[in-house]
Amino acid sequence: MEQIFPENWAVLHLGLIFSITLAQMLVVYVLSDSSNPPAGLGLFSVYFMAALLGWIAFTLQQEAAAPLAVDVPAVAAILNSYILFMAAGQRSGNQRGRILLGIVCLLGCLSVFFLPAQLMFATQISLATLFFAAAGILSALRSLREKNVGDMVIAYAALLMVVGTPIALYQVSIGGDSNLGQIIAFGAHSWAYVLVAVGFLASVLIEYQQHLSHLATEDPLTRLLNRRGLQDALRISIAHARRHGLPTSAIMIDIDYFKRVNDSFGHETGDHVIQLVASMIERLCRESDVVARTGGEEFLIILADTDSASARILAERVRQAVGERPLVVDQHRIPVTISLGVASASGEFNLDELSQEADQAMYLAKRGGRNRVASVENKPVHLSNDSMEI
Ligand code: GH3
Ligand code: MG
Ligand code: MG
Repeated sequence: MEQIFPENWAVLHLGLIFSITLAQMLVVYVLSDSSNPPAGLGLFSVYFMAALLGWIAFTLQQEAAAPLAVDVPAVAAILNSYILFMAAGQRSGNQRGRILLGIVCLLGCLSVFFLPAQLMFATQISLATLFFAAAGILSALRSLREKNVGDMVIAYAALLMVVGTPIALYQVSIGGDSNLGQIIAFGAHSWAYVLVAVGFLASVLIEYQQHLSHLATEDPLTRLLNRRGLQDALRISIAHARRHGLPTSAIMIDIDYFKRVNDSFGHETGDHVIQLVASMIERLCRESDVVARTGGEEFLIILADTDSASARILAERVRQAVGERPLVVDQHRIPVTISLGVASASGEFNLDELSQEADQAMYLAKRGGRNRVASVENKPVHLSNDSMEI
């Protein structure tokens, strides 16, 4: 077979880098919803575009008969790596160190006018590695925080630079094989670039998948679980209650006369009332309680290992917290009350049956005059409110 290297390798390399970048950006742009683009998309796009220009300058330099007057690829490598650091900062929401490293980047770029070629090479790969390392740390932290392995791939890219650069520097300065040193530096940077492209794509895809699975189980208005999320969340506690014969209680909550709130203040303010009531309910519950929005202005709390008496106490506390003073929403003072129904089961329970019983109790609270708690216990009904007992 005819040898295609080494004459054409620079063009082949550029072609590969170009295809990977193009494919990656295309997928990312198709996936990104304009109302909710992935964090850091803007600066990552700038990085990939600037890096492409850098690789083009590098290829031209390889093809040129005489070296360029100014080492453009070296400046491009320093600048691009700094942009990568800023992009990783934007993506992880951590902007620390950008001014300090920005000054270092500027000095590195200016040194192209003063330093001899070999020293410039050392400066270029050292600074690029410094910026990659900073980007890698930010990405690794994000990866752990968001449980997103894509960001960890970006951290691996930085690791590759951190390992490759000292070996390249050693070869250039002490090892005496300058050519080998340059190849190692070039290889580490190329592979690191590819890993960043793959890592960013993976990170966006994983984020998108997490977003989809949240949509299936989470209510977008209140960020509480929806019905399906509730079922998923309760799988373990249902089994636990069955095994140990523990009591479980449910509290169904419905906002009273909510249509009037919408009619008087508009649907958007109505939405904000729902959000506020949801956060009040959540605040009063324990970590182990599961809270869901099961309908327009309806919520369901499932209390593991809680008997009816304790559930009634919590229900009463929630009722008082919501109704004790008007809620301040969008500069309006809106009096809001809720009706609550409590039902309990012992040992194994069926979520649908338990929530239906709580729902029936809640309707009894409505019928009893609203702004009260009703409970179903071994079927007799118990209504409680300061103003009314039946
Ligand atoms: P009550 O429960 O006390 O019997 O009276 P209500 O006025 O609350 O009656 P109902 O439960 O039948 O009406 C609920 C209203 O909530 C109907 C609907 O317009 C409104 N609603 C449902 N979902 C939403 C929502 O997501 N946002 C807003 N703003 N309103 C909603
Ligand atoms: Mg209602
Ligand atoms: Mg309702």
